[in-house]
Amino acid sequence: RVKDEGRGTLRFFEAAMDEQLQARRRIEHELSGAIPRGELQLHCQPIVNGRTGVIETFEALIRWHHPERGCVPPAEFIPLAEQSEQILRIGAWVLDTACAAAATWPQPWRVAVNVSPKQFRQPGFAVSVAAALTRHGLPPRRLVLEITEGVFIQDAAMAVEVLTALRSLGVRLALDDFGTGYSSLSYLQRFKFDKIKIDQSFVRRLGQHADTLTILRAITHLGHNLGLQVTVEGVETPEQLAILRELGCDQMQGYLFARPGPMAALSELEPERLRALFDPESLQACA
Ligand code: C2E
Ligand code: MG
Ligand code: MG
Ligand code: MG
Repeated sequence: RVKDEGRGTLRFFEAAMDEQLQARRRIEHELSGAIPRGELQLHCQPIVNGRTGVIETFEALIRWHHPERGCVPPAEFIPLAEQSEQILRIGAWVLDTACAAAATWPQPWRVAVNVSPKQFRQPGFAVSVAAALTRHGLPPRRLVLEITEGVFIQDAAMAVEVLTALRSLGVRLALDDFGTGYSSLSYLQRFKFDKIKIDQSFVRRLGQHADTLTILRAITHLGHNLGLQVTVEGVETPEQLAILRELGCDQMQGYLFARPGPMAALSELEPERLRALFDPESLQACA
């Protein structure tokens, strides 16, 4: 009987795994037609100056509007796409769409684009970035590429070469999800990024762990001492904002300022409201 139960459990797991595999195949298949069907869209979220609240950059964040399942978050399909060649087509589409949009924005605003490791490692990536900039007449300094330490894993020397080529184009380079990987610190030594984006998990833990503040302070100092700008993600409350301002973070991003939204809604953002969050009075209110 025990043996039977074991077999039953095994069959149950097999069935569950089968279902998972099928669901993955289905998503993969559906994703391959998502670009031509116009189901992909870029949302944008502002990144504001950490002292004034003025919008400096918009991060482009992909959304998939699935005809039946509604809005599928990137966490559910980007990792899948990354396992096949699909990420290359999606990445090219994101870069092109983001550059086209940014070229129509008011001058000082930059666009930040997430680049997946596979896209980054593809031969000719820097050339394709240059081509997208030229195609839309976007000055290189208005493009920020957000990469993760994943680009270093297979061939670090090659990654540095690509980063150097991108740097010579004049685009800005940010190390995203900083602090979550395996050895973020060593990557800071291999290449001089323009900025680091501290992962939102740190801000989330601010109220819960006393040590988190110490870590955030240390990362900010480290970044500044290396001549890098420091951005924090996931700022949701005035209390977090007050703490992070005191640390001297250069830029902030989070629901407190604005949630990601369709590019067409950008004009609806109220600069006055953002600046008011940084008023001395509102600071005192939560001190
Ligand atoms: P990321 O680059 O670290 O982007 C920040 C994520 O944090 C976004 O999630 C954003 O919506 C979310 N976020 C911003 N402020 C807050 C906040 O105050 N609270 C909370 N809880 N979350 C906040 P999203 O849009 O779901 O994207 C998740 C990840 O998917 C991104 O993380 C990025 O790694 C990836 N991704 C998104 N778009 C693209 C893309 O076009 N290409 C590639 N390769 N990856 C992308
Ligand atoms: Mg990012
Ligand atoms: Mg991030
Ligand atoms: Mg992240």
